[in-house]
Amino acid sequence: MPVLFISDLHLCASRPEINRVFFEFLRGPARKAKSIYILGDLFEYWAGDDDLGEPFNASVVGALAECSRAGPSLHIMHGNRDFLLGADFAAACNARLVDDPHSLDLFKTRTLLMHGDTLCTDDVDYQRFRAEVRAPAWRKEFLSSPLAVRKERIGALRAQSEKEKRRKPPEIMDVNRGAVEAMLREHGYPRLIHGHTHRPARHELRVDGRVCERWVLPDWYKSGGALVCDDKGCQMQNL
Ligand code: MN
Repeated sequence: MPVLFISDLHLCASRPEINRVFFEFLRGPARKAKSIYILGDLFEYWAGDDDLGEPFNASVVGALAECSRAGPSLHIMHGNRDFLLGADFAAACNARLVDDPHSLDLFKTRTLLMHGDTLCTDDVDYQRFRAEVRAPAWRKEFLSSPLAVRKERIGALRAQSEKEKRRKPPEIMDVNRGAVEAMLREHGYPRLIHGHTHRPARHELRVDGRVCERWVLPDWYKSGGALVCDDKGCQMQNL
């Protein structure tokens, strides 16, 4: 049975077509998997687990729980959009939250899983922003304001980030080679799987004389896609 990797779905109520692709994926191919890893940015944004009752969120969580009860174990990593996903969310999905980075033995190949944003070290402004919002004090302060206020603040942050992204040269928003090499070295090579950059590909690289591979997962803007791995290796599959 294969292990599936997806990321960057950016689910939100206003994109019904891709939501349908996702729900069909959970009812179909996902159920034949041994496990499923969602490597961040499942949601366009997440304001806090007290938003679990919002109808769209509830439909996603319900579908994830139904899928994982039918077979595959479900593992979810935070992305930069949904890093406030918490224990209540995970319990409601019958899923486990995994750390970024997370290392596993994938059919006897050492494999490192990341969302990918921490690899974009050339984007100094983003890394500064990330450090700020990931600090426990920021999280505590943010979650202490009312849900409606949080949604407004998120709206403002997203507008700001869109503006900045248009100003940044595209190459600084990609991964830094040195950061990739350091992670592969630190975690024992030879495979890295991540999302975030929306530049789906398989890259082969040599680190310390070892042949390594880096898989970049596709986003779910125009269509869905998953990386499917089994004992023969990995391949990208359109959904
Ligand atoms: Mn991301």
